[in-house]
Amino acid sequence: VSEHVLAFDQAINPYGCSPKVAEAMAAFALSRSYRFYGDPDARALREKLAAHHGLAPENLLVYNGAGEALVWIFVARLLLPQARLLVPYPAYERFVAVGARTAAEVVEVPLDPQDFSLDIDRVIETARARGAGVALLSNPNNPTGNLLVDEAAMARLLDEVPELLWIVDEAYADYAGVSHASWVAERRNLVVLRTFSKAYGLAGLRVGYAVGHVEEMTRLSAFRLPWNVGSMSLVAAETAIDDQEYLKDVVGKIRADREAFGAMLRSVPGLRPYPSDANFYLVALDGLNPPRLLEHLAAQRIRVRTRPDMPSHIRVTSLLPEQNARLVEALATVPA
Ligand code: PMP
Repeated sequence: VSEHVLAFDQAINPYGCSPKVAEAMAAFALSRSYRFYGDPDARALREKLAAHHGLAPENLLVYNGAGEALVWIFVARLLLPQARLLVPYPAYERFVAVGARTAAEVVEVPLDPQDFSLDIDRVIETARARGAGVALLSNPNNPTGNLLVDEAAMARLLDEVPELLWIVDEAYADYAGVSHASWVAERRNLVVLRTFSKAYGLAGLRVGYAVGHVEEMTRLSAFRLPWNVGSMSLVAAETAIDDQEYLKDVVGKIRADREAFGAMLRSVPGLRPYPSDANFYLVALDGLNPPRLLEHLAAQRIRVRTRPDMPSHIRVTSLLPEQNARLVEALATVPA
């Protein structure tokens, strides 16, 4: 993305990663250690992640982003057995698209049209009636920004449909302060996906991981080649996970910015942001003309996320406060 474009369409961390990460990567680059193969099984990172989540390294597999982890889970659990995938609607469209190509069928459970909450009874009923093999929930959800499950809801899903593999994508969980990762020690039918792309600010380095019961991770590891994640990316992730103080600080800033941004968006007539537990807002456009709005933003080199199936909504990431203010100013001056 060019420096001259304001990219509200990527749900990244505008403050970037811990400065220690850049130092560690620079030292690694200068040492030219990359001429060697690195750690084939990302053991050092998995040990740090295990300590972080209160789990064992055997509960973790590291991939090129949460997306790559999901592809292999779908190959193992959807494509080969030709199973059905259950997802809420709307959900993260890129992951659903991979599901559509790997599953026998994608079964959608619509979220509540008022507040995008997930009706747990309906999910359980649909999963049983349609015989789904895998369910994917992003918590918080993209594009709606809200948490779909709390502890009680999660426990019900895992208990009441035990034969189904529940995948919980926690890409934005650091912003919500809610995680089910530690549950995998006890639960066989839960896999949690985490990423360094969002709060850790390392989207371009492509590091994410799957957290699951040892049995599920052993099954999944059959599809993973050694050295799948580059040694420089592993150095970055190891340094990032060690700097929890930076993470806490940056998450605190982004949450405060998000609240101020939400208040500003709400003050513009015609904009209705939904409450967010993530670092972005889904905004309903009431009475604003979406093509005209997008044209007006594009002329100022401002990009927002759109999707064809939700033509009267935009999704905007909370960037730096002055950038958020620029977007609000642009949105407040859309020609009628
Ligand atoms: N999950 C969700 C819900 C996302 O929105 C995104 C990024 N757009 C990802 C996962 C991507 O994760 P990664 O970069 O680790 O593949």
